[in-house]
Amino acid sequence: MCGIVAYVGPRDAQPILLDALSRLEYRGYDSAGLAILNGKGVEVRKKSGRIQELASACQQKPVQGQIGISHTRWATHGGATDINAHPHLDASGRLALVHNGVVENYLELRARLVGHGHKFVSETDTEVLAHLVGDAFAASKTKGEEKLVEAVRSAMKQVQGTLGIAVIHSDLPGLVVGARRGSPLVIGIGHGENFLASDTQALAPYTNRVVILKDQEVVALKAERYDIASPLGIRSDIQIEEIENGVATSDKGPYPHYMLKEIYEQTSSIQNAFRGRLNPHEATAKLGGLNLSSHELRKIERISILGCGTALHAGMVGKYLIETLAKIPVETHYASEFRYGDSPTSPNTLFFAVSQSGETADTLGALREAQRRGFPCLGICNHVSSTIARESNGGVYMHSGPEIGVAATKSFTSQVMIFTLLGLLLGRLRSLSASHGQEILQAIESLPQKITQVLDRSDETKKVAQKYAEAKSMLFLGRLANFPIALEGALKMKEVTYIHAEGYPSAELKHGVIALIDKETPTVLIAPRDGVYDKNLGSLQEIKARGGRVIAVAHETDAKIRDLADAVLPVPETHPLLQPLLNVIPLQLLSYHSAVALGRDVDKPRNLAKSVTVE
Ligand code: GLU
Repeated sequence: MCGIVAYVGPRDAQPILLDALSRLEYRGYDSAGLAILNGKGVEVRKKSGRIQELASACQQKPVQGQIGISHTRWATHGGATDINAHPHLDASGRLALVHNGVVENYLELRARLVGHGHKFVSETDTEVLAHLVGDAFAASKTKGEEKLVEAVRSAMKQVQGTLGIAVIHSDLPGLVVGARRGSPLVIGIGHGENFLASDTQALAPYTNRVVILKDQEVVALKAERYDIASPLGIRSDIQIEEIENGVATSDKGPYPHYMLKEIYEQTSSIQNAFRGRLNPHEATAKLGGLNLSSHELRKIERISILGCGTALHAGMVGKYLIETLAKIPVETHYASEFRYGDSPTSPNTLFFAVSQSGETADTLGALREAQRRGFPCLGICNHVSSTIARESNGGVYMHSGPEIGVAATKSFTSQVMIFTLLGLLLGRLRSLSASHGQEILQAIESLPQKITQVLDRSDETKKVAQKYAEAKSMLFLGRLANFPIALEGALKMKEVTYIHAEGYPSAELKHGVIALIDKETPTVLIAPRDGVYDKNLGSLQEIKARGGRVIAVAHETDAKIRDLADAVLPVPETHPLLQPLLNVIPLQLLSYHSAVALGRDVDKPRNLAKSVTVE
């Protein structure tokens, strides 16, 4: 989603800002812009569309200067137009501001400012913020750099909502002021130069030394120093963290798209999720990051899983795994609903917040709500040092490596793997037998090789995709743990092809959805040989009897399904509890190949953002 990069130092800011912004491209955005202090005033370039458009505008009319701010916008208020793109100026035109987040009370603030003679050029909530900071700056009696810091603080007091901002003022040519409330912001420390970014990946080629801003903090950033303060005072215990760089955003290897690369990486990413976490001796898993003793883990009576989108689907498979292996009741919640709902919570509940980026605003809000109610909340994240990873009471890292494709693939299978390990660990602390534990361990260890077998048949999936890609609408059906796989398959299809798709439990078909069946609406039915195989066969027959076409995800040896279905996406057999991990892969490939067949922008689907840092 939206991104911020700022630079102050001895080098030309424009190429650095453009390069760093391009490293945030994968997050999804609709416009981009930058503002640089050129010695006389603030100069702005901004464009709707890709960063390349901004780069061309900058090439035609370069901006000279060694200090600047820049932004990729994911529109929340006002269309994706040049004018609405950030940065925005204040009334004096001497202050420029970029903003991630949402100003919830902007209409009220805007009306007040208009009443005082302010003129607005954009439809954004952000422009209000620029005017507020500008007004506070003009009215302030404070001298020097503190004046801009104070003005930012004063504006923050008036604004409700979330913000990560960076501000420059032409009266203070060596200073960038950054602030955060809800949206992430980090300081990148260079030699004689400093950076500000909403995501450490923007800084990869420049520095790996960062300081993570905490909520409500404001930083005064100069080339040689940075001072951080919150409303409670100056932060003196500054910890510089070293981040893992090497994010090769341009490195797709032999693959035409990141999505395909990441689908193929699942053989190793799933291994990274379980490496060092298996304990064959005791037929269990070890997850040190939970920060809970065996005694504490045994006392858990309920589990609640919080997530959004793909992460929630992983949590829904997790519910099935934990309930089956450990016999602990599990609830899953849309994080966005949990944070504002009244859903009752029982004592001895352990919460999990699941988010690849660790920055998902809704999941973070839900985590804080669970903690506010007095419950421990653990994180399942990919990004080390992300806000959710830092604010949770412990957790498990996915170690999937960077996921650049907007449509999540390898993060899903890693999250499900972590829930498998959790189910095993909690189960073995309860009634799960050692022999059952061993079966799960063996199935886990043989998964990477089985994933390779699925991937090796990608060409068959491609043919199916090419045949069905013209569909206007698709249904995805599955039962029990394969129901969330149906949801995930439908979500992938919507995300990258824009085909309308719905996921349902197979048996729900006859309770309404069957009305949609005709020969134009293919159904993807997930039907491995498991306890509900015969029931799924019944659903298949019902669809065929009404002239529908069925693409079945089924075991490669299943001759019956091969006879009945119009197409089969074959998967090898594994332990039934782990089968969803294999079943999802042909669905990822199906949406990928369908999107390619339709000529879609697979890695940057329209309207979507990689990490959703606004509510
Ligand atoms: N709410 C602001 C806008 O619509 C910022 C969106 C963003 O975070 O990119 O311009």
